[in-house]
Amino acid sequence: MSAKRDYYEILGVGRSASLDDIKKAYRKLAIKYHPDKNKGDKSAEEKFKEVSEAYEVLSHDEKRARYDRFGHAGVGSSAASDGGNPFAGRGDINDIFSAFGDIFGGFGEGGSPFEESFGGRGARRRRSSGVPGSDLKIKIKLTLEEIAKGVEKTIKIKKLKTCDTCSGSGSKDGSMNTCSTCQGSGEIRQVSKTMFGQFINVSTCPTCNGEGRVIKEKCSKCHGEGRVHGESTVKMSIPAGVSEGNYIPLRGQGNVGMRGGPAGDLLVVIEEEPHPSFDRHGDDIIYHLNISYPDAVLGTKLEVPTLEGSETIDIPAGTHGGDVIKLHGMGIGRLNSYGKGDELVMVNIFVPKHVSGKEKELLKELNNLSGIQPQKNAKEKVEKSIFDRVKEILG
Ligand SMILES: [Zn+2]
Ligand SMILES: [Zn+2]
Repeated sequence: MSAKRDYYEILGVGRSASLDDIKKAYRKLAIKYHPDKNKGDKSAEEKFKEVSEAYEVLSHDEKRARYDRFGHAGVGSSAASDGGNPFAGRGDINDIFSAFGDIFGGFGEGGSPFEESFGGRGARRRRSSGVPGSDLKIKIKLTLEEIAKGVEKTIKIKKLKTCDTCSGSGSKDGSMNTCSTCQGSGEIRQVSKTMFGQFINVSTCPTCNGEGRVIKEKCSKCHGEGRVHGESTVKMSIPAGVSEGNYIPLRGQGNVGMRGGPAGDLLVVIEEEPHPSFDRHGDDIIYHLNISYPDAVLGTKLEVPTLEGSETIDIPAGTHGGDVIKLHGMGIGRLNSYGKGDELVMVNIFVPKHVSGKEKELLKELNNLSGIQPQKNAKEKVEKSIFDRVKEILG
């Protein structure tokens, strides 16, 4: 999976855009990149697909809400669920980080329709005013119990906040001067003469950052930035079933922009703490249970830990090593659908390394009895049990 661009950026609309805005933006781009109009143009074809995908999600209330909370992981099929592969979670991290690259400034390679007019991501947001704030990334550690049910978390983060002395304007008394570098246009035009003719290069004015105006007298608290270092408390609800490397984008909760510019996002990256008793396998959890040979032969009741406490389970007479006892719905809540995974208790017949003289005697005596010895078809039985186990885990 390659890095995905932000759906709002693709359509060139704000986070709070109405359905109408989204429809309009989509129609415009869909016409521009329509395959009928761009025959044989591969990049237009890619753009058309990208735009259609973004529209499909953002025009759908529920999908858009999921996307706003969980990013691409919330609406895609591959990033969020493990698809039954126990190692998928590890691979996902790379995708997640390449997605971060996307968010943190990988925009604009190869002719984005927005680049020409606004000059990259920072400038694109500048359509309002002020310089946008950067995104922040934090990691949050969750136990398997928290992941199983979903959890509310309150965390403190250090970030740039709006300066309350100047209300974010950066100006001591609110007054502004026209920028003398660009005479208020916000752009610098450089003319270069070459043997092929004259070229004009337009760039954002570095003095006023494209705003066209500069502060007359800077606010003394924030030195004209309109923002100061501070702390912020963030409350978030993490849904059940997230995996290591999944991230939750909290729109507008990152650093605030300079002089009233829009705030960046806060990206909360999930870290899964290893569990002392369970291994995770997608939405299922696996518990390895050691039982004695007599218990396996005679059957018994044993207590096993669960995510909710413990449960007493039946070990049927004649249980084999490798048999799986399934506790339905005792696993992890599913992220992308309803219900829960299972707890799979994998039985292992415990074989002691050392036994006392008395035990040795009894075992020898036991071993002389015919019912204890493997039958001719024992191999077949063992293979069947392994096959059943694999089938049970996969199915
Ligand atoms: Zn200030
Ligand atoms: Zn300027």
